[in-house]
Amino acid sequence: MMNQRPPLILGNWKMNTLPEEGRLLARQLVPTVMDGLHRPVEWGLAVPMTHLALLATETKGKALLGAQDCSVHPHGAYTGEVSAAMLAASGCDFALVGHSERRQYHGETSLQAGQKILRLQEQGLMAVYCVGESLEQRQSGNYASVIQNQLQEGLMLEGLSLGVSELVLAYEPVWAIGTGLTASPEQANEVHALIRHWLLQNRGSNAAEQVRILYGGSVNASNAGDLLSGEHVDGALVGGASLQIRAFADIVLSVR
Ligand code: PEP
Repeated sequence: MMNQRPPLILGNWKMNTLPEEGRLLARQLVPTVMDGLHRPVEWGLAVPMTHLALLATETKGKALLGAQDCSVHPHGAYTGEVSAAMLAASGCDFALVGHSERRQYHGETSLQAGQKILRLQEQGLMAVYCVGESLEQRQSGNYASVIQNQLQEGLMLEGLSLGVSELVLAYEPVWAIGTGLTASPEQANEVHALIRHWLLQNRGSNAAEQVRILYGGSVNASNAGDLLSGEHVDGALVGGASLQIRAFADIVLSVR
C-alpha cells in the first residue's frame, strides 16, 4: 500500500538567537520556504521558549511552531518549568520531548518523555519523541534493543494517542547530532523500519501506518535528498542547518 504519511521537516534552533534575531530569521525563512514550494509540505521550527509568542505571528498558517521541551506536570509549584497548557496558549503546535541533549545534560528519561507526550496531547499539541543510540551502543551492535527500550518506556502510558497529528517519532543517533557525521541512508532506513515494525507489533497497524518517523543528525542541504529517500523516512529533524535560511529552505524543498 502507498505510504499516506505527509512528509514533515522540523528545525530545532536549540539555545540560539535572541528573540528579536529569531523573529528576523523567521521573517526571512518563512517566505523563502513558501516561495519555493510547489506543493504543500508540512514544516516547522522548535524555538526557545522566550521566542514563542513573538514567532507565533510569523508562522501562523504557514509553518508549525514548536517548543523544545515541556514539563511533566500540568501546573503548580515547579519553579522554572513550562507547562503544555502554557505552550498551547503561546501559539505552539508541537514540542520535542526526549531530545538527546535533554537526556544527556538534564537526565531526562524515556519514562519522563512519555509523561510529557501525554501532557502535550492533553492540550491538543503534537509530541515529537526523539530516540537514538550512542556511539558506544552503535559500535557494540546493541542499538536495536536500546531503541526498542526507549520506545517501550516512552510510549507505555495509558491514554497516549498514536495518530498522525498527535505523535511523531524522531530517530536521532546521538553520534550524528551536531558532529557532522550522518547515518548513511541505509543505516537510517534500517532503524526506521525497525521502529515501524515495533509500532506494528506493539501498537497495531494504524499506529504503524500513521506515525511519522523523522531522521535527525547533521542533516544538511547536500545530504537531505538521499536521507529522505528511504521508504520509512518520513522527514527530518534539523538542528544546525535550521539556522541557515538557504540551507533549511533547500532541505524542506528537497522533499519529493
Ligand atoms: C537536533 O538538534 O535534533 C539535530 C539533529 O542537530 P544537528 O542537525 O545539528 O545534528
